[in-house]
Amino acid sequence: MERETAVVSPAEMKRQAAFIREIRDLPHRPDTYFIVTYGCQMNAHDSEKLAGMLEEMGMRPAPRREEADFVLFNTCCIRDNAERKALGNITWLREVRKSRPQMIIAVCGCMIQEPGMAEKILKQYRFVNLAFGTASIHRFPELMLQTLESGGNTVVVDQEDVIPEGLPVRRMRKEFAYLTIMYGCDNFCSYCIVPYVRGRERSREPEAILREAEALVEGGTKEIMLLGQNVNSYGKGPGGISFAQLLRQLDGMGIPRIRFMTSHPKDLSDELIDVMSASRHILPQFHLPVQSGNNRILEAMNRHYTRERYLDRVARLRQAVPGIGLSTDIIVGFPGETEAEFQDTMSLVREVRYDSAFTFIYSPRVGTRAAKMPEQIPQEVSSRRIEELIALQEALQQETLKRFLGCEEEILVEGLSRRSDTAVSGKGGHGISTTFDGTAEDIGKIVRVRITGIKNNTLTAERMDEKNA
Ligand code: SF4
Repeated sequence: MERETAVVSPAEMKRQAAFIREIRDLPHRPDTYFIVTYGCQMNAHDSEKLAGMLEEMGMRPAPRREEADFVLFNTCCIRDNAERKALGNITWLREVRKSRPQMIIAVCGCMIQEPGMAEKILKQYRFVNLAFGTASIHRFPELMLQTLESGGNTVVVDQEDVIPEGLPVRRMRKEFAYLTIMYGCDNFCSYCIVPYVRGRERSREPEAILREAEALVEGGTKEIMLLGQNVNSYGKGPGGISFAQLLRQLDGMGIPRIRFMTSHPKDLSDELIDVMSASRHILPQFHLPVQSGNNRILEAMNRHYTRERYLDRVARLRQAVPGIGLSTDIIVGFPGETEAEFQDTMSLVREVRYDSAFTFIYSPRVGTRAAKMPEQIPQEVSSRRIEELIALQEALQQETLKRFLGCEEEILVEGLSRRSDTAVSGKGGHGISTTFDGTAEDIGKIVRVRITGIKNNTLTAERMDEKNA
C-alpha cells in the first residue's frame, strides 16, 4: 500500500526559488537581517532555514536587531509568558524603527498559527509588515516579495499540513546539526496547543532523512540531533518504517554522535530501547517527559500512560543502557491537582532521580481542553509547588551527577564558557554541560576529559587528549 505524502511539490519549491532570485536582484531589498528565536529546537531549526533563505536573497546577518534592515521574530506560544515576551519585544522594536524607517518587521512561528492571532496582528499590530504561520515557511520567499513590493501589512496563515523538502539552511554550528524527521503532533495532551499550531503528524520519507544525514557527515558534522514533537511515533501508518528502524539505519552510516528528542513515554517501544543498547553512535541520553507522577492527573492530561508504565520504561532503559542520562519535563498546578497528587510527582522524582528536569507551572492556552477545566489552581499554590519541586530536583541532581566523578568522557565543545574566556564548555554523551580549560580553537572539536567536579548542576573536568573525529 502506498503511503500518503504531504511533501511540497518540486514545482512549488522551484517557484519559491524563483522568488528568491527575484528578491536578490531588487534594487531596494534589505541588506541585513536579524532573527529573534523563541521556544524549542524545532523553532531554532526553522530559524536556520529562514536564515538560509534570507542569505540566498542576498542579505547578511546584522550584529544586533536594532541595526538590521529586516527583523524576524520566530515565536512560540506553548506558554502565556513566551507569547507576552514576544509581543512586548515586537512593540519595543516599533519604537526603534522611528529612527530607522527602512526597517521591516516580520513575525512568524507558532504564535501566528494560534486561533485569532492573525486578526489581532492585523488590528492591533498594524506596524508589523509581514506575518506568517508555521505551515507557510516554504512560502516565505513569495510572501517576502509581496511585502517588499506592497510595503504593507501581509498576514498569511495556511492550514495545510505540509513537509517542505530542500529549503536552504544556514546552520549555526558546523559540527552540530538539527535534523527534523517529522512535523506536527496527534496526541492532543489536554494542556498543549502544539497540535493546533503545528498540525497533524507527518513523517519525512526515510530516504530524504538519510540523504540529509549523509550530506551533513560529508560536510564535517560530528553530532546530529533528530527532531520531532514525538519522534517515537515516526513513520506511523501504512508502509512506514518505525523510529527504531530509522535509528538503526542512521547508526550504520558512520555519524559519530546521534541524539534525538522528544519521546512520548506511551510510544517508547522495546524495539527502540534494544536499538539504543546495541548502537555504536546513539548517545546514552534520553529525554522522557513525565509531566506528573499521579495517575488521575496523567489521565486528565490525556497522556495515555500510568505512573507504573512510565517507571517500567525507565527501568528498562537503565537496564539496557547502563548509566544513561535521563531528563524530563514536569508541569505543576494542572487544573484540579491536589496536594496529595502533587506529592505523587515529588515521590516519582525521588524514585527516578533525573539528571535534569525542566519544570513548569501550568499555563492555560485558549482552545485546549485543560483551559476550560474547572478548579484552576491559584498562582500562589503553583508557585509554592514549583519551588518545592525545583529544590528537590537540585538536591537530587547533586547526588546523581556524582556517578560521573572520575569518569572519562568525550565532549563536543560548543563554545567558550560564559564565566571565563580560558575555559570551554560542551556536552558529553549523557547530555550534561561540562566545562574545562580551553580556548576558542577547541570549538567544534571532540575533546577527551576526566570529570573532576560538580558546579551548579553542571560538570567540571580536566583535559586528557584531543580526539579530532
Ligand atoms: S505529545 Fe503532547 S505535549 Fe508533546 S507536543 Fe504533542 S500534544 Fe504537546
